[in-house]
Amino acid sequence: MADATPPFDDVLPEALRFRSPAPLVDIGANLTHESFARGLEATIQRARAANVTTLILTGTDREHAEQAVALAQRHPGLYATAGVHPHDASRWEPTLEAAMRELHRQPEVVAVGECGLDFNRNFSTPAEQEHALEAQLGLAAESGKPLFLHERDAGRRMREMLHAWRDDIGDAVIHCFTADRETLFGYRDLDLHIGLTGWLCDERRGHHLRDLVGEIPLDRLMVETDCPYLLPRNLPAKLKGRRHEPALLPWIVREIAHWRGMEEAELARATTATARAFFRLPPGETPHDIDHEES
Ligand SMILES: [Zn+2]
Repeated sequence: MADATPPFDDVLPEALRFRSPAPLVDIGANLTHESFARGLEATIQRARAANVTTLILTGTDREHAEQAVALAQRHPGLYATAGVHPHDASRWEPTLEAAMRELHRQPEVVAVGECGLDFNRNFSTPAEQEHALEAQLGLAAESGKPLFLHERDAGRRMREMLHAWRDDIGDAVIHCFTADRETLFGYRDLDLHIGLTGWLCDERRGHHLRDLVGEIPLDRLMVETDCPYLLPRNLPAKLKGRRHEPALLPWIVREIAHWRGMEEAELARATTATARAFFRLPPGETPHDIDHEES
């Protein structure tokens, strides 16, 4: 069937096309979200044109994780995570656990998650969320793969649970970190990695993060879009449909670099090195990693 999507450069206005000076890893891209069903190939092409060479596709439940694995099998530079989001924690049961265990054996799956605690919305009860997280911490310990964690308004409980598991699990990232200084330092004490999104670019609610970005060691800091959610508010042009995508990650890196007082290229290289080590990605697996040497 013919793909009726426009050419890849028709979606982003000229003013939003910004090629990162060094290759980037988007550690949180929800490319299996229905909003990407049309024009997915073009979305991946636009990411590459922006020098976002590696995408970690977030698997938030069994169905999306399986779709993410299928995409990763077809595209170099794409990888998947597999977990059950705290919103869906009420669905956790033995069959699902077995399916997750099987997914974690796939070479394309580079992390256990997205899993965690979200006491802000409580779509599943806190008890259900803790039960599902506990089980997935066990799966991470079993598989030896790193953890991709979601936490909203549950920093204290998250720290308690991770503290109990710290010796059994390996690396773990709190993705889309938005919490306060005390929570950040608690996570640093647990030697967790931190994922930053365009939340920082939101002057209404991301203000407190600007003073905190410098407190995250570069070898623990990674960047992500969390697309299609959280379109950055610092973009110099309007985007029709307001769907966030990996090609816009360089704008987030620019903002973080600004608040850290460092060069974008230096930050890009550091976060990419951190992400490659965290997810244990093979070195330079795409030709795009070499692209930046020319320009
Ligand atoms: Zn999340």
